[in-house]
Amino acid sequence: MSTQAETFEFQAESRKLLQLMVHAIYSNKDTFLRELVSNASDALDKVRLESFRDKDLEVDTSDLHILIEADREHRTLTVRDNGIGMSRDEVQELIGTIAKSGTAELLQQLKDTKDGAAAQELIGQFGLGFYASFMVADRVTLLTRRAGEDTGTRWDSTGEGTYTLEGVDEAPQGTAVTLHLKAEDQEDSLLDYTDSTTITTIVKRYSDFISWPIRMEVERTDSEGETTRQIETINSMKALWARPKEEVAEEEYREFYKHISHDWNDPLETIHLRAEGTFEYQALLFIPSMAPFDLFTRDAKRGVQLYVKRVFIMDDCEALLPEYLRFVKGVVDAQDLSLNVSREILQQDRQIQMMRRRLVKKVLSTVKELMTEDPDRYAKFWDQFGQAVKEGLLGDVDNRDQILEISSFESTHDPESRTTLRQYIERMKDGQDSIYYITGSSRSKVENSPHIEAFRDKGLEVLLLTDPVDEMWVESVPEFDGKPFQSIAKGQVDLDEQDDSNSERAEQEQEFAEVLSWMSTKLADDVKEVRLSSRLSTSPACVVGDTNDMGPTLEKMYRAMGHEMPPVKRILEVNPNHPLVSGMRDAYDKNGESQELKETAELVHGMALLAEGGELREPAEFTTLLANRLARTL
Ligand code: ADP
Repeated sequence: MSTQAETFEFQAESRKLLQLMVHAIYSNKDTFLRELVSNASDALDKVRLESFRDKDLEVDTSDLHILIEADREHRTLTVRDNGIGMSRDEVQELIGTIAKSGTAELLQQLKDTKDGAAAQELIGQFGLGFYASFMVADRVTLLTRRAGEDTGTRWDSTGEGTYTLEGVDEAPQGTAVTLHLKAEDQEDSLLDYTDSTTITTIVKRYSDFISWPIRMEVERTDSEGETTRQIETINSMKALWARPKEEVAEEEYREFYKHISHDWNDPLETIHLRAEGTFEYQALLFIPSMAPFDLFTRDAKRGVQLYVKRVFIMDDCEALLPEYLRFVKGVVDAQDLSLNVSREILQQDRQIQMMRRRLVKKVLSTVKELMTEDPDRYAKFWDQFGQAVKEGLLGDVDNRDQILEISSFESTHDPESRTTLRQYIERMKDGQDSIYYITGSSRSKVENSPHIEAFRDKGLEVLLLTDPVDEMWVESVPEFDGKPFQSIAKGQVDLDEQDDSNSERAEQEQEFAEVLSWMSTKLADDVKEVRLSSRLSTSPACVVGDTNDMGPTLEKMYRAMGHEMPPVKRILEVNPNHPLVSGMRDAYDKNGESQELKETAELVHGMALLAEGGELREPAEFTTLLANRLARTL
């Protein structure tokens, strides 16, 4: 008996993704089976865990397994599990929508991508889960009953905009997904997915390590030549992480990565380690080759699963790796934890903390090795995850040096590639004892900002730090390898120390003293002080921060986050060798103050802000002043 079927529309984004699937943009169609088996395996993990936690849940967990049934005659393939199942609401929520963050971006990028290979990579990075079935089927039926509930739900769709839901009284616990396979002649690339040998090969290839038995009826020919059909377990069920490294093939690691990460691309790096002794554990971690869409959204999940003695305990285990390594995926299997550990207990457990320290060090040292052994792959890693890793400079004081060691930055040395801090230090000039940097919102802005002029003239290299996180860590990290970080847009710089131009400078200080102090009072609303600069060679002026003040980008970030604070006044530095500045001095010395000269001072300040890519407080006022002044020159 079943209730009347109701028809629903797919949520708009899901519909678009489905269309992509139906028209099979993705060439490796076999992966649909990996997705279904992976979902079934998760469902079995969940039912075991739930029955363990909730003793009243009525569920038989004595023979948890996955069964694959092929029906040649009707051309169907069914993947059945006796796992947790789904309630009607869950089916609607989980299968009717693609609740993944980044779906909208993915679709947009796919629309913009004309190149097929790039589109594949995007989809691969996103993963399509259950929807991948529509690559090989023109109709999919899902029958499910949640553990502990009486009635089941049937979901049915041809993947064309709508699906139906119907209540079903008699349904086995768990989920059965039945694919009505596309006709073979419709797609010549399609394998015969009703053939048990084909299915066995695909399962061995993608899902061999699944810890639950995957069963299927296979044909066997015995010694007398009689053919019999019998149900067999077709995967080895060996937990990959528990096997010795030497015995695991690259391909197996790759497929395991895809299973746990829901990423369709290969990982960039695999880390397999085991600890023996009093606290035994095994870890199998992966660095993906591409950052997920949601790496920088607030609720980005962490990718490490915790197992205890081969039993799945939790996803997204934040106790195992710090937030800045949230892109690392994998499994950690600890021998001596209780099966009902909670997140709270884990956070405090001393052994977990020790394990976490070791895992962090291992990930960082793996990146270090990559850096020396395969610079191109390291560069790829840094493109994808560098911003996240640098967040660690703020919180993980213990590993700060190691993080700096594996970081790389853009610099004035080479427009094409980044530099490490070690390489920077090797290139430091005699007598240079600081690592110079400038922060800002883009390379072109900071590269052309006036602050950099004298450094460029003197051949001093400057790091160009343009990630938002750079603004933050430079405030709290004092040095690397004994060399202090110094902002070239802050405090005094004295690049002439080595020259004997000191007496010349003292003279200039005197000559300009009066006009500068007058300017300081006139611009007092905007700047702390006006002084002579030794960092300029061609520009008339620049604005700099006081040594311990916050930079303008950081100030803006804080405001954007809703922090109220008084504006941070900066210092206007002027170039005594620029005709505009010396001209102002001459005019002041000759005629004293005037409205005209005051306006010139304001224009100089405005130009200094514009030159660094900053914002004017009163843009309209500035343009009026400038327009009037220009009009007079015509
Ligand atoms: P993903 O597995 O990447 O989250 P899917 O589209 O494959 O995306 O599945 C969406 C959700 O539907 C799963 O996260 C799970 O909650 C649920 N689901 C899918 N298959 C099953 C199943 N066999 N048993 C129970 N729940 C399932």
